[in-house]
Amino acid sequence: AQRGLPQKRKLLGVDKIICVSSAKGGVGKSTVAANLSLSLARAGRRTGLLDTDIFGPSVPRLLNLSGEPRLSANNRLLPLENYGVKTMSMGYLVGEEAPVVWRGLMVMKALQQLLHEVEWGALDVLILDLPPGTGDVQLTIVQQVVVDGAVIVSTPQDIALIDAVKGVNMFKKVDVPILGMVQNMSVFTCPNCQHTTHIFGTEGVARECQKHGLELLGDIPLDASICQDADNGKPTVVAREGPLTDAYKSIADKVV
Ligand code: ADP
Repeated sequence: AQRGLPQKRKLLGVDKIICVSSAKGGVGKSTVAANLSLSLARAGRRTGLLDTDIFGPSVPRLLNLSGEPRLSANNRLLPLENYGVKTMSMGYLVGEEAPVVWRGLMVMKALQQLLHEVEWGALDVLILDLPPGTGDVQLTIVQQVVVDGAVIVSTPQDIALIDAVKGVNMFKKVDVPILGMVQNMSVFTCPNCQHTTHIFGTEGVARECQKHGLELLGDIPLDASICQDADNGKPTVVAREGPLTDAYKSIADKVV
């Protein structure tokens, strides 16, 4: 290990850790992370979802969970569970409306707790929903735990893609294998006339994958039901059968 850097650790009882990242906020990373976890759980895998976004946690809302986590006998945080997925999030510890105005040191301390002090029990796979971006916090996470693979989510828009490449470079630097990219919000089909529009561009993510020798893991359209399901606290994979659920499932099959 480099001097000053903590050694990467495995998490007790967790077989495999997959992180879902994006270089930009708002591209659908958390929605992908939640739907992936739910697909894995539905396929019978013991699954956890760890929301490492200290400033904008979305897992409580997405999985319709709230309340303070209980502590185990040895003072570790016990995950909250819904739809067969065990979860932990800063959102449970600070409440939904509380703005987190913290100094760097406190952020790092909270992060340590989320990473190392959760009693997951036995898990086949833990999905890490990383905060958007490629800064210190993201680096700390991937340097502290043994991440088996990274999924990068992006829209096909150039400005999102430029940043997505920074993500590719970050994972390469810390020796985390990149499993591939997910193109999100690519095509919109008008529910009235069935006309299709590529709002953020057409093939941007596929192009980027080719350039970097990465796999395009899937392509999720821009669809109002994905947004509604998320807002209802019942993500698409548990809310409805059909092509959207199949699209998330096919990505999940490729990452484990
Ligand atoms: P991020 O984690 O990248 O910040 P979110 O997953 O929170 O992004 O998604 C941002 C917003 O876009 C949310 O309102 C979410 O419901 C919505 N959203 C995500 N993916 C889609 C999609 N494929 N179609 C429609 N809305 C989506």
